[in-house]
Amino acid sequence: HPTMSTTTNDLVLVSGASGFLGTSVCLAYLEKGFRVRGTVRSQEKGDAWVQKHPQWKDKIEFVIVKDVAGANAFDEAVKGVTIVAHTASPFHYDVKDNEKDMLQPAIEGTRQMMQACKKEASVKRVVVTSSFAAVLDMARLPAIGTTYSDDVWNPATYDEAKKSDNPAFVYCASKTLAEHAAWDFVKTEKPSFALTTVQPPLILGPPSQVIESMKSLNTSAGAVWSVIDADKLPATSFPVFTDVRDVAEIHVLATTEEVAKGQRYLSIAGHFDNSQIAEVIARHFPEQKHRLPKVDKVEVPEHFATDSSKVEKQLGIKWIPFEQSIVDTAKSLFALEAQLKEQQK
Ligand code: NAP
Repeated sequence: HPTMSTTTNDLVLVSGASGFLGTSVCLAYLEKGFRVRGTVRSQEKGDAWVQKHPQWKDKIEFVIVKDVAGANAFDEAVKGVTIVAHTASPFHYDVKDNEKDMLQPAIEGTRQMMQACKKEASVKRVVVTSSFAAVLDMARLPAIGTTYSDDVWNPATYDEAKKSDNPAFVYCASKTLAEHAAWDFVKTEKPSFALTTVQPPLILGPPSQVIESMKSLNTSAGAVWSVIDADKLPATSFPVFTDVRDVAEIHVLATTEEVAKGQRYLSIAGHFDNSQIAEVIARHFPEQKHRLPKVDKVEVPEHFATDSSKVEKQLGIKWIPFEQSIVDTAKSLFALEAQLKEQQK
């Protein structure tokens, strides 16, 4: 239920509309009745989006932004828009040039979006997808005894990230510095829109974006799929999760609820281990059990605690539980695998 400042007739700009989260965020706004304009890197990506979700063809349009870090990248895209959800940012570990491949698109992309929004008077609300990566300090993992909450920041610096040979560290730094760039912009430039940022952990749940092969899954869906056909249970990358449908809903509420203005929302549904992913899939999909690695012990090793009570209280979020999220993810990925095999015939 949007509040006074926004109505469902409003046009929402979603950057990174071809992505895993970006697609779900577009769908969440569309389902609430908003019109959506998505940024994509090519016309083909926009066409493929509509082909996959034809029911929304009259409510969604696309603009091409090839380089989010380019000068005036979003100036055209924000025209006439009331709400902006900035999700576009690289999330992968295939980094050859730390600055070009990760830090610049994350940080400068966010700065470009802030600048475009300041210049367009119609923009009232902006949500930037940050990450738990901008909260935790990788050097302290497993950080037993630490509780991460909305006001904690990853201390990583640009210089450390520039020189690091650990792509996970570079990704975490890129999210931290991009979020700082957003808040710093608001502080120094005093734009007329309100900013909100969201810090999701590993995002699970059914992918709704266009996927061409099981090898080109987005990173977090790939983390679930990596358990299938593995000889040995892969190590859990980040032991905290939230379902993509909850993260998308939080983006909508972050831009429609008054209380969300100026907030940072750590958005963690629960803690998990890959052994639980294998156990849940084996129980719900017995016909796939032979593809799962042997699991000796189903348990979550001791690590940090998290507190996401602010988003629960202020936005009324009730989390999709782990088991449902994994069952829905696995169901969707097995169906996708079958469909792609069928297409190859
Ligand atoms: P994704 O599927 O890889 O989506 C990333 C999106 O950003 C895609 O639309 C991609 O466009 C676009 N993008 C990336 N680099 C770009 C560049 N240099 N120029 C233009 N567009 C670019 O990943 P995702 O998981 O949905 O991530 C979306 C957001 O959620 C990111 O901000 C990420 O940091 C954040 N997040 C994700 C997770 C998670 O577990 N998935 C957790 C916390 C936060 P193409 O489709 O053209 O590549």
